Amino acid sequence: MEQNKNLFSLIPKVDELLEDKIVKELLEKMPRVLVVDSIREEIDILRKEIQKGNLDEEEIFNRNKNLPRLIKIRANKKNSYKLKKVINGTGVVIHTNIGRSLIGEEVMENIVEIATNYSNLEYDLAKGERGLRYDHLEDIIIEITGGESAMVVNNNAAAVLLVLSTVAKDKEVIVSRGELIEIGGSFRIPDVMEQSGAKLVSVGTTNKTHIWDYENAITEETSALLKVHTSNYRILGFTSSVSGDELSALSKQYNIPLIEDLGSGVLIDLSKYGLEYEPTVQDSIKNGVDIVTFSGDKLLGGPQAGIIVGKKKYIDAMKKNPLTRAFRIDKFTISALEATLRLYLDEKEAIEKIPTLNMLTVDKTKLENKAKMLYNLIMDNIQCKNCQIEIVDDYSEVGGGSLPLEKMETKCIRISLDGLSLTEFENHLRNYKVPIITRLYKEKLYIDLRTVRESEFNLVVDGIVHGLNQLKGVH
Ligand SMILES: *Cc1c(COP(=O)(O)O)cnc(C)c1O
Repeated sequence: MEQNKNLFSLIPKVDELLEDKIVKELLEKMPRVLVVDSIREEIDILRKEIQKGNLDEEEIFNRNKNLPRLIKIRANKKNSYKLKKVINGTGVVIHTNIGRSLIGEEVMENIVEIATNYSNLEYDLAKGERGLRYDHLEDIIIEITGGESAMVVNNNAAAVLLVLSTVAKDKEVIVSRGELIEIGGSFRIPDVMEQSGAKLVSVGTTNKTHIWDYENAITEETSALLKVHTSNYRILGFTSSVSGDELSALSKQYNIPLIEDLGSGVLIDLSKYGLEYEPTVQDSIKNGVDIVTFSGDKLLGGPQAGIIVGKKKYIDAMKKNPLTRAFRIDKFTISALEATLRLYLDEKEAIEKIPTLNMLTVDKTKLENKAKMLYNLIMDNIQCKNCQIEIVDDYSEVGGGSLPLEKMETKCIRISLDGLSLTEFENHLRNYKVPIITRLYKEKLYIDLRTVRESEFNLVVDGIVHGLNQLKGVH
């Protein structure tokens, strides 16, 4: 005990550390509270180890010498944003974990304009009185999709919940068993249905549902037919599902609204660009679907949002649902979505200027050129005999539960390390000041050029150099 007490007294005091040269430099560039917290936390770690009896006098002395450096690392970490930019080397274009869709230059300019100024968010400039925040988006959505009316909420999960709660509360909704899906992050159709107060009537089987399955299930209590686009998986083989126009005919015959959760929300026929055909919002409207919902940040390539398009009488009822207030979008979303949607008025513009569409449709030559450029930059900057670095053909995925079968040909930088830990290297890349997210597959590390922008090449090279420097045994 007496011994311990003496050892504790060897730990420098906070005030002493604040006088250290390295620590003083920190105080110049960040709030004092972060520096003081970092000092206290480092001291605490030391104190706990002394308590455990792990350290003798000499070891404490050595640790003390190292304290300012550890304080600096800790303080710099505290002083950086928790949510920060990463480099997407995975090739997964719509990667939900790292932010789904990116916003292009012009869209960003519009967000800045709206965010840094007052706006007519809920103000009708023509009448000089209160207006509706939904009005800014309705016309353009109608123009692009051909729907009668539209509104936008926070995300597609909220959109589905709002639709069901407005149209089907306390009544029955008929859904095919093959469409009772789960979308990542605990969005399950049956659960959403329950939350909305609608009663789920599932028909057909996992692999086959026929039109008569729906028809036989229709009762006095039926309030809607729901079709869910199984965007994140496919059942292959002996399958059949009922097409939108068949269901639409049935819904008209019985005068029951047809709702479709499209998920991805494609507004351009992507099969023109060599991708698998994915039903567009326009197709659904043409097929006579009464209410369509889809995400803003999947294949549409805009901000997180849930877009609802369809018959005016239903949309009007939704606008009056109290949930709408809870699900309402903010001005950033409105400005980003309006600017993104405007690009769709000219398909060429959309493909060129919406990063998600651009990355999905980029041609092979461009990928190859990018790969060569990055490869040369890496080779110019690293010395590593036990690294094997090459350009290889590979496939990238769309992601975001969209086009699950699509495998797009791509080019990757592939790195393998002789006698060095690849997982450790990957860890260093992931923890680099600008984290680089890569793909590990069979003892090789892949950086996919589809999702890495040219403007990020220098950072990627710096990250690789940094990562290799942290490894022991590179020569
Ligand atoms: C992605 C998806 C959702 C959820 O959309 P969010 O915008 O992520 O809330 C709902 N339904 C389907 C079919 C989806 O693909």
